[in-house]
Amino acid sequence: SCKDKGRNSYCFYNQNMNQSELEVLQLTQDLRQAMAADQLSLYYQPKVELQTGKIIGAEALLRWQHPQRGWISPADFIPLAERAGLIVELGRWVLESAISQCKRWHELGYNHLSVSVNVSAIQLRRGNFEQQVKAALGNAGLAGNCLVLELTESLLLDVQPSLQLCLQGLREHGVILAIDDFGTGYCNLGYLQRFDVNMLKIDRSFVSKINKSKQDEAIVRAIIQMAHSLNLEIVAEGIETAEVAEQLRRLGCEKGQGFYWSRPCAPMDFIDLVLNRKSEPSSTL
Ligand code: C2E
Ligand code: MG
Ligand code: MG
Ligand code: MG
Repeated sequence: SCKDKGRNSYCFYNQNMNQSELEVLQLTQDLRQAMAADQLSLYYQPKVELQTGKIIGAEALLRWQHPQRGWISPADFIPLAERAGLIVELGRWVLESAISQCKRWHELGYNHLSVSVNVSAIQLRRGNFEQQVKAALGNAGLAGNCLVLELTESLLLDVQPSLQLCLQGLREHGVILAIDDFGTGYCNLGYLQRFDVNMLKIDRSFVSKINKSKQDEAIVRAIIQMAHSLNLEIVAEGIETAEVAEQLRRLGCEKGQGFYWSRPCAPMDFIDLVLNRKSEPSSTL
């Protein structure tokens, strides 16, 4: 029992835990091991220019193949990593891997490609995030404007001056700041002024039904208009059909992402997409 380990040790397990708490605990331990054993990987989903269909970059998305449970969604394990404090180390690995991947694309001759990385609030608050990003770019020899950091609205409700300074420092380094899942968070748009945000990603929940729902279309239209008048780039996420892609293009949306072009795929398959080889991806998720 925990008592045997003495006063200074803390206990992960107690008898009052229910089944789902135990599962979370087990999964968190598995995640710790997976990180140590290199069982996590990054997949890449193309970001496309709607006018031309040209690939302009990719979003890096974490994948975890659990030895027993198979693929586990980041929507499930990122929250665990955040609670267990593992997200700081994991996030750093994501950042460095995605940046060196982007450098490889450039070396292959595709130096117009940018890479987008999702950032957790905890990652930003702890550690020296600004230095971490600059060091990773510096080590790879990649310019700041090849990196997009995807932040959530709730993250930007933080009024700490340190966050402001961190993001300002990154902007001065050329790094692009995007608001992920735009429209699903709090509707306090003050943060758009407080932070030098460059890009809005319209949440999939609005995008996926614009061809069926007049209301969703109106919301998307309004977001696009607002983005344009604030000089923000706009990316629509979750585009699954040609019809939705075309409608967004007509509404003036410049960029998009979604299963219509490709699911997130392994680095090799992403290169095939860029090269426009028509092979079936070997694995997509
Ligand atoms: P997100 O950043 O909003 O990423 C977009 C999600 O939508 C991805 O799910 C992607 O696979 C999915 N998606 C893209 N196009 C379509 C589409 O056309 N239809 C549908 N139905 N889905 C589409 P995924 O990969 O499961 O990631 C879920 C979330 O997990 C991400 O949402 C992000 O919040 C988080 N996440 C993933 N990787 C990382 C990471 O490295 N760090 C952090 N902090 N969070 C991550
Ligand atoms: Mg994202
Ligand atoms: Mg998103
Ligand atoms: Mg999302």
